Amino acid sequence: MLTNYIEIDIDKIINNIEKVKSMNNQTPICAVVKANAYGLGAVPIATYIEDHISYFAVARYSEAKALRLSGIIKPILILGYVSVEEAIECAEYDIDICIFDMDYTFEIDKALNKKLNGHLAIDTGHTRLGFRNYETQKILSLKNLKNIRIRGAFTHYATADEKDTSFSKLQTKLFEETISNVRDELNIENIHIANSAAGISFDVKSDMIRLGISMYGIYPSDYLKDTSSIDLEKTFRFMSRIAFVKDVKKGTPISYGRTFYTKKDMKIATVPIGYADGYFRAFSNIGEVLVNGENARVCGRVCMDQMMIDVSNIKCKIGDEVEIYYDIYKEANKIDTIAYELMTSFDMRLERVYKKDGKVVKVDDYIGEIYED
Ligand SMILES: *Cc1c(COP(=O)(O)O)cnc(C)c1O
Repeated sequence: MLTNYIEIDIDKIINNIEKVKSMNNQTPICAVVKANAYGLGAVPIATYIEDHISYFAVARYSEAKALRLSGIIKPILILGYVSVEEAIECAEYDIDICIFDMDYTFEIDKALNKKLNGHLAIDTGHTRLGFRNYETQKILSLKNLKNIRIRGAFTHYATADEKDTSFSKLQTKLFEETISNVRDELNIENIHIANSAAGISFDVKSDMIRLGISMYGIYPSDYLKDTSSIDLEKTFRFMSRIAFVKDVKKGTPISYGRTFYTKKDMKIATVPIGYADGYFRAFSNIGEVLVNGENARVCGRVCMDQMMIDVSNIKCKIGDEVEIYYDIYKEANKIDTIAYELMTSFDMRLERVYKKDGKVVKVDDYIGEIYED
């Protein structure tokens, strides 16, 4: 029986992918599995969903290599910087890279002795990576690359999760103009623009949708959660157990710094989850978890490995399950962040349990695996 784990439902992930596809005329999906699939485990998820998607995207070379070494054969795109040495490895492993600077791209091209696929990043207003949308001449100079083929081109929305879509429309227009000037000359075959937010809300003409958070069943923003016509299902549960239960008298301090004093006699449970597991210390005195179907509030500071919760009105005992982030939007709002950050903070100390057809099909214990020989 596991104590602290993330339970991931593969069937729900596949359902979310298929829903987004069918809402977009069966547009192919690029499954964004960066940051260890938003904390849920990139290799097993990629392996289980490979038949349902057309591309994978990650953020780092190490993430792409891990997918290849685990047997993933679909194309993989790295959505960010790679060093020249990493780019050479990418050619070996058939991993696509991002192209966003002329001189740097030629430097990589010179260092290669093998073909490498690149995707042109066009900056239309996110101002992170990419050629500026008006740099047509620089982009066209990429015709002279010897080893790098410009296989795709993309841009990234800055505000697609908001109610006001005017900036997204402007970005789309700038992107389409730039692409129409270079597409034929560079022989670009794969144009992609939508992220989750665009993919679940407005119509975008795109050869594929780069689907991240919504594949895992999370809406990119509260606005889209409230307005999107698509019914996404959360695919994971963050679980722990009650370690200890005790009655405490009125006026008792709880946890470091004594930031909480009981105002009446209370029943307090200790849960073996702390900030080292990725449960933010900012949840001290405000986090809420679910114990036997009832809401329980965090009392006092969240410690490194443990925290205390108020179970005064809840029937519970040692070993009972505790669900954390059962309302992940509400919890994220409380500490001024977004579900993305809560998920990608899941520590390697939490085991990942994969379910398919209602059965556990795989359990990953990262710490155990590192020290296995
Ligand atoms: C992370 C990322 C995505 C996926 O974003 P979601 O909001 O999770 O769908 C898509 N494109 C780029 C360039 C990204 O960096």
